[in-house]
Amino acid sequence: ILEAVGLNHWFGAGEVRKQALFDVNLTLKRGSFTVLMGPSGSGKTTVLTLVGCLRGVQEGSVRLLEQELCGASEAQLVALRRRLGFIFQAHNLHESLTATQNVIMGLQVHRGIPDAKAKAAAAHALGLLGLSDRVDYLPANLSGGQKQRVAIARALVGNPALVLADEPTAALDKDSAAEVVDLLKRMGAARGTTTLLVTHDNRILDRADRILTLEDGRIVKTEDRT
Ligand code: ATP
Repeated sequence: ILEAVGLNHWFGAGEVRKQALFDVNLTLKRGSFTVLMGPSGSGKTTVLTLVGCLRGVQEGSVRLLEQELCGASEAQLVALRRRLGFIFQAHNLHESLTATQNVIMGLQVHRGIPDAKAKAAAAHALGLLGLSDRVDYLPANLSGGQKQRVAIARALVGNPALVLADEPTAALDKDSAAEVVDLLKRMGAARGTTTLLVTHDNRILDRADRILTLEDGRIVKTEDRT
Protein backbone atom coordinates (compact mmCIF):
# COMPACT_ATOMS: atom_id res chain seq x y z
CA ILE A 1 0.00 0.00 0.00
CA LEU A 2 3.05 2.24 0.23
CA GLU A 3 6.09 2.48 -1.97
CA ALA A 4 8.68 5.19 -1.41
CA VAL A 5 11.65 5.26 -3.76
CA GLY A 6 14.81 7.35 -3.61
CA LEU A 7 13.68 9.84 -0.98
CA ASN A 8 16.10 12.68 -0.37
CA HIS A 9 15.16 15.50 1.95
CA TRP A 10 16.79 18.72 3.08
CA PHE A 11 16.05 21.22 5.83
CA GLY A 12 17.10 24.86 5.92
CA ALA A 13 18.51 26.98 3.13
CA GLY A 14 21.84 28.46 2.11
CA GLU A 15 24.70 27.72 4.50
CA VAL A 16 22.51 25.94 7.03
CA ARG A 17 20.96 23.66 4.42
CA LYS A 18 21.36 20.14 5.70
CA GLN A 19 20.42 16.84 4.12
CA ALA A 20 18.25 14.79 6.47
CA LEU A 21 17.43 11.80 4.23
CA PHE A 22 19.60 10.03 1.67
CA ASP A 23 18.05 7.73 -0.92
CA VAL A 24 15.51 6.14 1.43
CA ASN A 25 13.42 3.31 -0.05
CA LEU A 26 10.47 1.86 1.78
CA THR A 27 7.77 -0.62 0.80
CA LEU A 28 4.88 -1.52 3.09
CA LYS A 29 2.60 -4.43 2.28
CA ARG A 30 -1.04 -4.35 3.32
CA GLY A 31 -1.48 -5.65 6.88
CA SER A 32 2.23 -5.57 7.70
CA PHE A 33 3.75 -4.22 10.90
CA THR A 34 7.02 -2.38 10.31
CA VAL A 35 9.25 -0.80 12.92
CA LEU A 36 11.61 2.05 12.09
CA MET A 37 14.49 2.40 14.55
CA GLY A 38 17.52 4.62 14.81
CA PRO A 39 19.27 7.18 16.97
CA SER A 40 17.82 10.59 17.71
CA GLY A 41 18.13 12.85 14.68
CA SER A 42 18.53 9.99 12.21
CA GLY A 43 15.45 11.06 10.24
CA LYS A 44 12.69 8.77 11.50
CA THR A 45 10.10 11.49 12.03
CA THR A 46 10.98 13.02 8.67
CA VAL A 47 10.18 9.69 6.98
CA LEU A 48 6.83 9.48 8.80
CA THR A 49 5.82 13.01 7.87
CA LEU A 50 6.72 12.47 4.21
CA VAL A 51 4.77 9.23 3.82
CA GLY A 52 1.91 10.72 5.86
CA CYS A 53 1.53 13.65 3.42
CA LEU A 54 2.33 16.09 6.24
CA ARG A 55 5.40 17.40 4.42
CA GLY A 56 6.02 17.81 0.71
CA VAL A 57 8.28 15.31 -1.04
CA GLN A 58 11.37 17.16 -2.33
CA GLU A 59 13.08 14.38 -4.23
CA GLY A 60 12.04 10.82 -4.92
CA SER A 61 8.58 9.37 -5.20
CA VAL A 62 5.96 8.14 -2.78
CA ARG A 63 3.03 6.05 -3.93
CA LEU A 64 0.45 5.70 -1.19
CA LEU A 65 -2.83 3.78 -1.59
CA GLU A 66 -2.44 3.73 -5.37
CA GLN A 67 -1.81 7.45 -5.54
CA GLU A 68 1.42 9.26 -6.41
CA LEU A 69 2.00 12.04 -3.85
CA CYS A 70 4.19 14.18 -6.08
CA GLY A 71 1.93 16.35 -8.14
CA ALA A 72 -1.19 15.41 -6.15
CA SER A 73 -3.59 18.29 -5.55
CA GLU A 74 -4.27 19.55 -2.03
CA ALA A 75 -7.76 18.01 -2.25
CA GLN A 76 -6.24 14.63 -3.14
CA LEU A 77 -3.78 14.91 -0.22
CA VAL A 78 -6.61 15.75 2.18
CA ALA A 79 -8.53 12.70 0.96
CA LEU A 80 -5.45 10.52 1.45
CA ARG A 81 -4.78 11.85 4.97
CA ARG A 82 -8.31 10.85 5.94
CA ARG A 83 -7.36 7.24 5.34
CA LEU A 84 -4.37 7.48 7.71
CA GLY A 85 -4.24 7.29 11.49
CA PHE A 86 -1.56 9.30 13.31
CA ILE A 87 -0.29 8.54 16.79
CA PHE A 88 2.32 10.85 18.28
CA GLN A 89 4.46 10.57 21.38
CA ALA A 90 2.75 13.56 22.91
CA HIS A 91 -0.86 12.52 22.92
CA ASN A 92 -2.15 15.96 21.81
CA LEU A 93 -5.54 15.53 23.45
CA HIS A 94 -7.86 18.49 23.90
CA GLU A 95 -7.85 19.12 27.65
CA SER A 96 -11.38 20.55 27.67
CA LEU A 97 -12.92 17.56 25.89
CA THR A 98 -13.81 14.15 27.35
CA ALA A 99 -12.22 10.93 26.14
CA THR A 100 -15.24 10.26 23.90
CA GLN A 101 -15.20 13.78 22.46
CA ASN A 102 -11.48 13.53 21.78
CA VAL A 103 -11.93 10.25 19.92
CA ILE A 104 -14.82 11.72 17.91
CA MET A 105 -12.43 14.44 16.74
CA GLY A 106 -10.65 11.68 14.86
CA LEU A 107 -13.81 11.17 12.84
CA GLN A 108 -15.48 14.51 12.58
CA VAL A 109 -12.76 16.96 11.82
CA HIS A 110 -12.92 15.93 8.19
CA ARG A 111 -16.09 13.96 7.72
CA GLY A 112 -19.64 15.02 8.78
CA ILE A 113 -20.64 11.79 10.48
CA PRO A 114 -23.92 11.95 12.50
CA ASP A 115 -23.47 12.37 16.26
CA ALA A 116 -24.99 9.08 17.36
CA LYS A 117 -22.92 7.08 14.90
CA ALA A 118 -19.72 8.92 15.87
CA LYS A 119 -20.43 8.34 19.56
CA ALA A 120 -20.97 4.62 19.00
CA ALA A 121 -17.73 4.36 16.99
CA ALA A 122 -15.84 6.21 19.74
CA ALA A 123 -17.29 3.94 22.43
CA HIS A 124 -16.24 0.90 20.42
CA ALA A 125 -12.68 2.20 19.90
CA LEU A 126 -12.31 3.15 23.58
CA GLY A 127 -13.64 -0.29 24.54
CA LEU A 128 -11.01 -1.98 22.39
CA LEU A 129 -8.40 -0.07 24.36
CA GLY A 130 -9.85 -1.04 27.70
CA LEU A 131 -11.26 2.39 28.50
CA SER A 132 -15.00 1.65 28.61
CA ASP A 133 -15.21 3.01 32.15
CA ARG A 134 -13.36 6.23 31.28
CA VAL A 135 -15.34 7.50 28.30
CA ASP A 136 -16.57 10.64 30.08
CA TYR A 137 -13.28 11.53 31.79
CA LEU A 138 -11.29 14.64 30.93
CA PRO A 139 -7.60 14.09 30.08
CA ALA A 140 -6.58 15.72 33.38
CA ASN A 141 -8.22 12.84 35.23
CA LEU A 142 -6.54 10.08 33.22
CA SER A 143 -3.11 8.53 33.72
CA GLY A 144 -0.38 8.99 31.11
CA GLY A 145 -1.00 5.53 29.73
CA GLN A 146 -4.75 6.06 29.57
CA LYS A 147 -4.29 9.37 27.74
CA GLN A 148 -2.07 7.66 25.21
CA ARG A 149 -4.69 4.97 24.72
CA VAL A 150 -7.32 7.65 24.07
CA ALA A 151 -5.01 9.12 21.43
CA ILE A 152 -4.64 5.67 19.90
CA ALA A 153 -8.42 5.18 19.89
CA ARG A 154 -8.70 8.53 18.10
CA ALA A 155 -6.21 7.38 15.46
CA LEU A 156 -7.98 4.05 14.94
CA VAL A 157 -11.60 5.12 15.08
CA GLY A 158 -11.84 5.93 11.38
CA ASN A 159 -10.52 2.49 10.33
CA PRO A 160 -7.36 3.88 8.76
CA ALA A 161 -5.63 1.94 5.99
CA LEU A 162 -2.24 2.98 7.35
CA VAL A 163 -1.30 3.86 10.93
CA LEU A 164 1.77 6.05 11.37
CA ALA A 165 2.98 6.04 14.95
CA ASP A 166 5.87 8.02 16.44
CA GLU A 167 7.04 6.50 19.75
CA PRO A 168 3.49 5.57 20.78
CA THR A 169 4.57 3.48 23.74
CA ALA A 170 7.16 5.85 25.23
CA ALA A 171 4.81 6.94 28.02
CA LEU A 172 3.39 3.50 28.73
CA ASP A 173 4.37 0.85 31.25
CA LYS A 174 5.41 -2.58 30.03
CA ASP A 175 1.97 -4.17 30.04
CA SER A 176 0.19 -1.26 28.35
CA ALA A 177 2.93 -1.03 25.73
CA ALA A 178 2.53 -4.70 24.89
CA GLU A 179 -1.26 -4.31 24.76
CA VAL A 180 -1.07 -1.39 22.37
CA VAL A 181 1.23 -3.24 20.02
CA ASP A 182 -0.88 -6.38 20.15
CA LEU A 183 -3.94 -4.30 19.38
CA LEU A 184 -2.29 -2.74 16.33
CA LYS A 185 -1.24 -6.21 15.21
CA ARG A 186 -4.74 -7.60 15.67
CA MET A 187 -6.12 -4.71 13.61
CA GLY A 188 -3.65 -5.63 10.91
CA ALA A 189 -4.89 -9.20 10.89
CA ALA A 190 -8.60 -8.38 11.16
CA ARG A 191 -8.93 -5.30 8.98
CA GLY A 192 -5.76 -5.27 6.91
CA THR A 193 -4.51 -2.15 8.71
CA THR A 194 -0.85 -1.49 7.95
CA THR A 195 1.38 -0.02 10.65
CA LEU A 196 4.63 1.92 10.44
CA LEU A 197 5.92 2.61 13.90
CA VAL A 198 8.94 4.60 15.05
CA THR A 199 10.41 3.42 18.33
CA HIS A 200 13.43 2.87 20.52
CA ASP A 201 11.41 0.42 22.54
CA ASN A 202 13.00 -3.04 22.49
CA ARG A 203 9.78 -4.58 23.76
CA ILE A 204 8.14 -3.90 20.42
CA LEU A 205 10.82 -5.30 18.18
CA ASP A 206 9.87 -8.93 18.78
CA ARG A 207 6.47 -8.24 17.34
CA ALA A 208 7.52 -6.54 14.12
CA ASP A 209 7.30 -8.21 10.71
CA ARG A 210 10.15 -6.03 9.55
CA ILE A 211 12.66 -3.80 11.32
CA LEU A 212 14.38 -0.97 9.47
CA THR A 213 17.31 0.87 11.00
CA LEU A 214 17.98 4.44 10.01
CA GLU A 215 21.34 6.11 10.67
CA ASP A 216 22.24 9.62 9.57
CA GLY A 217 19.37 9.67 7.11
CA ARG A 218 20.16 6.30 5.50
CA ILE A 219 18.54 2.92 5.93
CA VAL A 220 21.50 0.83 7.05
CA LYS A 221 19.74 -2.39 7.99
CA THR A 222 16.55 -4.27 7.05
CA GLU A 223 15.53 -7.34 9.04
CA ASP A 224 12.58 -9.46 7.94
CA ARG A 225 10.99 -11.44 10.74
CA THR A 226 8.38 -13.36 8.78
P1 ATP B 1 14.14 11.79 17.24
O1 ATP B 1 14.28 10.34 17.55
O2 ATP B 1 14.97 12.65 18.13
O3 ATP B 1 12.71 12.25 17.11
P2 ATP B 1 14.39 11.53 14.36
O4 ATP B 1 15.16 10.32 13.98
O5 ATP B 1 12.91 11.45 14.27
O6 ATP B 1 14.81 12.02 15.79
P3 ATP B 1 14.13 13.79 12.59
O7 ATP B 1 13.24 14.55 13.49
O8 ATP B 1 13.52 13.17 11.38
O9 ATP B 1 14.92 12.68 13.40
O10 ATP B 1 15.30 14.74 12.13
C1 ATP B 1 16.30 14.38 11.19
C2 ATP B 1 17.27 15.54 11.00
O11 ATP B 1 16.61 16.64 10.38
C3 ATP B 1 17.86 16.08 12.29
O12 ATP B 1 19.20 16.39 12.07
C4 ATP B 1 17.06 17.33 12.57
O13 ATP B 1 17.84 18.26 13.26
C5 ATP B 1 16.69 17.81 11.19
N1 ATP B 1 15.36 18.45 11.19
C6 ATP B 1 14.18 17.86 11.43
N2 ATP B 1 13.15 18.72 11.33
C7 ATP B 1 13.70 19.91 11.00
C8 ATP B 1 13.17 21.21 10.73
N3 ATP B 1 11.87 21.45 10.76
N4 ATP B 1 14.06 22.18 10.41
C9 ATP B 1 15.38 21.94 10.36
N5 ATP B 1 15.94 20.75 10.59
C10 ATP B 1 15.13 19.75 10.90
